[in-house]
Amino acid sequence: MKKIVVIPGDGIGKEVMNSALRILESFDLPFSYEFAEAGDETKERTGHALPEDTLEACKNSSAVLFGAAGESAAEVIVRLRRELSTFANIRPAKTFKGVKSLYDDVDIVIVRENTECLYLGLEFEINSGVTEAIRVITEKASEKIAKFAFELAMREKRRRVTALHKANVMKKTCGLFRDVCRRVSKNYPEIEFNDYYIDAGCMYLVLDPWRFDVIVTTNMFGDIVSDLSAGIVGGLGLAPSANIGDEHSIFEPVHGSAPDIAGKGIANPSAMILSATMMLKHFGYLNIALKIERALEKTITNGKTTPDLGGNLSTEEMTDEIIKNLD
Ligand code: ATP
Repeated sequence: MKKIVVIPGDGIGKEVMNSALRILESFDLPFSYEFAEAGDETKERTGHALPEDTLEACKNSSAVLFGAAGESAAEVIVRLRRELSTFANIRPAKTFKGVKSLYDDVDIVIVRENTECLYLGLEFEINSGVTEAIRVITEKASEKIAKFAFELAMREKRRRVTALHKANVMKKTCGLFRDVCRRVSKNYPEIEFNDYYIDAGCMYLVLDPWRFDVIVTTNMFGDIVSDLSAGIVGGLGLAPSANIGDEHSIFEPVHGSAPDIAGKGIANPSAMILSATMMLKHFGYLNIALKIERALEKTITNGKTTPDLGGNLSTEEMTDEIIKNLD
């Protein structure tokens, strides 16, 4: 039995979490759910955005399903990612029929290293008007993320892994990352491997996104490329994400608590549901995950959506439609 800690959090987090749980409960899965609290409302009541017992529950869980946190997001989700040592950030960019996007049939997964690079925050002011930042890339972290990308490609039956870097300019740091990716690729002869400079890679992403399948890259490039890819498939509306570590994992929609629509019952549950399907894939329930994705796609194609996607259904009604389409 896998213990899933559920943190609905603030605003629409609660509403979309309810939908995701209804979808998961449509299947006979060996999961037990433990609810925990975090976020602005929790902070207001207890003085702590991420109470110790929530953190403890997460540390003792197989996975965390997270809804959203408002103003306290940094205290909650950023801290959780660090405390649970989630080294890989996974952001799929997939087109959905019925959702306006630049292209059709794009299906890319971005695997972003989550622990080092320029985002370590090692920034210094040398003297007035002169600042510097240190970029740390290690063989160990690069190997770990490269292996993770290939294992994901194998698991999801994907055909290619592409590494993005800038080894012609950052010869040491990006050179190490590229070389490690190339070395790791040799252990996966079933999966094609290639690498591009990040700038060329961005151009190819916009002009010809179909040449990508799984992208593996360093922290900052990954951050930028995931939003670029989200833009290619129609924005953040349907964007899920996963943070994966050796022992822990957190699955969360990319959107926030959306205070402007919270409580109105019109939040689009898709990103939260797709985050739950990422959890299913992570635990090896690929067929169930794909079944949910197909049901969601059918629901969207039929126009049975919340207002943000052009429909007139409530969150609950859209969830009902998805459940109907599971059959
Ligand atoms: P936060 O401070 O929690 O990040 P935010 O409003 O700054 O909240 P988002 O929550 O990502 O950021 O919302 C940005 C915009 O997108 C808002 O107008 C919001 O209503 C809309 N939005 C976000 N998520 C959804 C959703 N699931 N369904 C419908 N609209 C959404």
